[in-house]
Amino acid sequence: MSTAAAYAIPAADGAFEKITINRRDVGPDDVLIDVKFAGICHSDIHTARNEWGGTNYPCVPGHEIAGIVAAVGSDVRDFKVGDRVGVGCLVGSCGVCAPCLAGEEQYCAKGATWTYNSRVPESAQSNGYTLGGYSTQIVVSESFVVGIPEGIGLDVAAPLLCAGVTLYSPLKHWNAGPGKKVAIIGMGGLGHVGVKIAHALGAEVTVLSQSLRKRDDGLRMGADHYYATADRETFRSLRGQFDLIINTVSANLPIDDYLRLLAVDGTLVILGLPDQPLSVTGRNLAGFRRSLAGSMIGGIAQTQEMLDFCAAHGIGAEIELISADEIDSAYERVVASDVQYRFVIDAATI
Ligand code: NAP
Ligand code: ZN
Repeated sequence: MSTAAAYAIPAADGAFEKITINRRDVGPDDVLIDVKFAGICHSDIHTARNEWGGTNYPCVPGHEIAGIVAAVGSDVRDFKVGDRVGVGCLVGSCGVCAPCLAGEEQYCAKGATWTYNSRVPESAQSNGYTLGGYSTQIVVSESFVVGIPEGIGLDVAAPLLCAGVTLYSPLKHWNAGPGKKVAIIGMGGLGHVGVKIAHALGAEVTVLSQSLRKRDDGLRMGADHYYATADRETFRSLRGQFDLIINTVSANLPIDDYLRLLAVDGTLVILGLPDQPLSVTGRNLAGFRRSLAGSMIGGIAQTQEMLDFCAAHGIGAEIELISADEIDSAYERVVASDVQYRFVIDAATI
């Protein structure tokens, strides 16, 4: 075991504090990473505050990790000391089930091992559950490490490891591209990256945000249209318009209102994960043969594909860089939809 500094939350209603954690020894297949930047995803907040239940404390969130390889195990072939690398939400999976063999480790039949708050043997992490990227170092099996192309800064690449692939995966799966009308609900961490990627894929992109406050930014990032959902006229004028609607909102929405915006055979994809059940009226699905679907991040190969796509299209997240002692206030601002557009922790301040 080696030690690393980390920022942990000690209880659901606690405040972040600096602690020392253990990291496992670098095994033959492992990569030791000096973390440089860690994005703050809203899932970190749901977990830190135990909004989904089952959080182990002290909890070290962070699954948007960008850093530099500090050491590699004897069998590691794809990475060497000094490489620019990233780690997202996944650090393990069974490797033999159908989803794993299809490169969709996030849907592992035995349950993937998440970067934080997943049960692991004591030998893998002294607490018995994974501790994430709000830390100075992390040890990860090379199968769950991706390379960050030279063209993207590590700070603006970090949020792509979760937010980027979470949008890229459904946009590809539901064929967003030329001739497709795509709406993105929520102009936050996920949403703003989704606007950039959907635009780069060639789709006609509409943002559905609570207000027009972030309209200029949305249009600059590639949106063709921008509407406020606080205005009921939005729901009248856009009825039956979209092939694909992607919901990135961290709170519950009136799903029926958004289903009615889908064209025939359109799909509404749920990415946002509030803990309350959704309510749907059957005729809003049946009427236009609409679909309601969900999507969870993306596999490791697709994460690499997404990073290469973003580098080729000059896409990075738009970030506010903070020091580790600002995590609590950053959480408050994320919950208030007041971040432009992702907080990223400078790991040098941990
Ligand atoms: P975020 O930065 O907080 O963005 C969420 C956006 O939703 C806000 O910027 C806001 O956009 C909108 N919003 C917030 N509260 C709202 C409300 N009460 N009514 C309407 N709109 C509201 O969060 P994020 O990091 O992008 O994550 C969003 C959600 O996705 C979270 O629930 C997270 O856990 C989940 N997530 C899922 C996956 C997956 O694989 N499925 C991966 C990562 C995250 P406007 O200001 O534009 O309205
Ligand atoms: Zn995330």
